Amino acid sequence: MHEMSIARSLVVQVIDLTRDQPGQSLSSVRVRVGELAGVEPQLLLAACEMLAEESAIANTRWEILSQPLLASCELCGETIEIRGFCFACNHCGSTSVRVTSGDAVILEQITMVAMQAAAEDRER
Ligand SMILES: [Zn+2]
Repeated sequence: MHEMSIARSLVVQVIDLTRDQPGQSLSSVRVRVGELAGVEPQLLLAACEMLAEESAIANTRWEILSQPLLASCELCGETIEIRGFCFACNHCGSTSVRVTSGDAVILEQITMVAMQAAAEDRER
């Protein structure tokens, strides 16, 4: 499964990034999934949660957000959002457009909290 291998590399990245943070505990991870990345956000979420559960970063909240497909028009320079795979500029009608974002899976943000605060949170 495609999503499973992406989830595996995300979990590895997150563990790498949070390893040398003494006194800090990972709270949440935000991932952007481009519409053209060919990834099903729900499947990716399930895969991330499952893999994280068996790792050093269990109890992490995963947020998988979709990233609209954006392109820039080579003719008029406008940034346009591609909908329904219609690769044409809605300003000048040119079909010479270049995808600038929305074709990748990006680890956008990780949130760490102080270990003490995390413990207090659990006590509440
Ligand atoms: Zn244009």
